[in-house]
Amino acid sequence: MQSRLLGSFIPSREKAESLKKLRIIKQNLIHIHGLPKHLVDVKMLKSNEYFGQYGTIKNVVLSRKINPETGKEIYSVYITYENKTEAACAILCADSLLIYGKIIRVVFGTTKFCNQFLSNKKCRKSEKCKFLHQLASNEDITIDANTNFSYDEYLKLSKKIIEQSILNLNIKNIFLKR
Ligand SMILES: [Zn+2]
Repeated sequence: MQSRLLGSFIPSREKAESLKKLRIIKQNLIHIHGLPKHLVDVKMLKSNEYFGQYGTIKNVVLSRKINPETGKEIYSVYITYENKTEAACAILCADSLLIYGKIIRVVFGTTKFCNQFLSNKKCRKSEKCKFLHQLASNEDITIDANTNFSYDEYLKLSKKIIEQSILNLNIKNIFLKR
């Protein structure tokens, strides 16, 4: 399901149920997968040698999970840039790079609506809450959380969004010239 939701009206209970299932692509957020352990370091990631070179980084979140089947650690990194052009640049430049023998994957990060917001309550975490407290804007792209995207499909979608924003900037000639 693709939907565009506008305005700041309070969602009805029915609407809230359907909004719970949505993930919203955050176009200034990137999700990096597959980094070697020693690079999962905020200072290193922010440096100009790594992700700092693509723009102004507002926030870095590191996450570590254990693969229940292999017992191996899986590292994920979320980087918020000041704007979506910087995030797009990071995806185009860094996805599929081979770093210390590992191929890293970089896609847009997603977020959800805050449950407090959907139940029409005031969120106590206010600004610290990482979820959305308003309906998505016209530019936002939403995907159903039940859709099981493969990483490749998601990557394709990420690149399509970037292409679209390039077209909107009217600089397509740079890329379409032969
Ligand atoms: Zn919240």
